[in-house]
Amino acid sequence: MQLEKVYEPQRFEPRWAQWWLDEALYAADNTSTKPMFSLVIPPPNVTGSLHMGHMLEHTMIDMVVRWRRMCGYNTLWLPGTDHAGIATQMVVERQLGQQGIKRLDLGREKFEEKVWEWKALSGGRIVEQMKRTGASCDWTRERFTMDEGLSRAVREVFVGLWERGLVYRGEYMVNWCPRCNTALSDLEVAHDDTQGSLWHIQYPVIDAAGALTGDHLVVATTRPETMLGDTGVAINAKDERYLHLHGLRVRLPLMNRDIPIILDDLADPAFGTGVVKVTPAHDPNDFEAGKRHNLPHVKVINEHAQMTAEAGPYAGMDRFDARKKIVADLEALGLLAGIQPHNLSVTKCDRCTTILEPLVSKQWFVSMKPSPRKAMAAVEDGRTTIEPEQWRTTYFHWMRNIRDWCVSRQLW
Ligand SMILES: [Zn+2]
Repeated sequence: MQLEKVYEPQRFEPRWAQWWLDEALYAADNTSTKPMFSLVIPPPNVTGSLHMGHMLEHTMIDMVVRWRRMCGYNTLWLPGTDHAGIATQMVVERQLGQQGIKRLDLGREKFEEKVWEWKALSGGRIVEQMKRTGASCDWTRERFTMDEGLSRAVREVFVGLWERGLVYRGEYMVNWCPRCNTALSDLEVAHDDTQGSLWHIQYPVIDAAGALTGDHLVVATTRPETMLGDTGVAINAKDERYLHLHGLRVRLPLMNRDIPIILDDLADPAFGTGVVKVTPAHDPNDFEAGKRHNLPHVKVINEHAQMTAEAGPYAGMDRFDARKKIVADLEALGLLAGIQPHNLSVTKCDRCTTILEPLVSKQWFVSMKPSPRKAMAAVEDGRTTIEPEQWRTTYFHWMRNIRDWCVSRQLW
């Protein structure tokens, strides 16, 4: 027998992969009395094909699973795929876009059909890839995250959390993608360090009778378009420079609305001029400050990133066009005190890279109060150790500053 010089895996592997399946070597046995070991695959998204990251993960899982099987366990590696709502909708929208078709033109029902077509294609491909690479899953039990049984499990967990007071619905500030038209969780936000500007704007101070005092406060902002929604200006209680102005009001330029000067730690005497504008409807920190001081919300940017009717003369403009116009108008009024280059972290949609808009909207949230407490206790008492040690600080920082988790999305 002549050995071939080159090994051609494609001549052998498909045959063996098929044989493994035909012999049901990886099927778990419901009637077995052996000790059990089961593991659910982190289901790959139906957004295309498997990539190297999946291969690494599946190889590691497969090692554990096969080792258990060899140790005599009745072993189940449960395979499946994930509908991955936003990501999958994006893929299908992009494909339709190449044919010049928009989701809205198609309508919801037709669009959903297209998504299911794609699911069959991508999900099918992923499963074939896994079978072909020999992942030792029990293929008789394959699941999809929108199967009836899994959907019931989601409802069960959700209602359970509700009954324990751990989910609630409310109007809070969320990361909003104006292109995807949905709220996002903090984990779906990309942070992009860019060179921006810090615009310094003069707000004239007025007295109790509403007359200009001739004095003014200078606020610094990286997003001048939000000033139209300011409902306060904050100074720090320890900042001697401005204390005499506490209790007076300023006249909001361009809108000619009188808003209070408040004392709040939001204003850092060491940063900028030490004075900050407070825009409860468009900034997470200002939202909190607004709650502390009972400041009204004036929403000047809408879900499509356009200026609202509350933005007066800027209504209907795109947020970035409005920014240019506002800066020019302030300059014309002599109220632009300066522009400084400023490095800032811009938050973008992880899926489509559109710059996000922090917006107050009615969403469902999972409370992040009890679980971080338990997670921190596990590290504090040594049940879990963090390597290298120096990352403990980062871990505790995350756990202490974690915000409630926005779990609702606005998808078709
Ligand atoms: Zn987006």
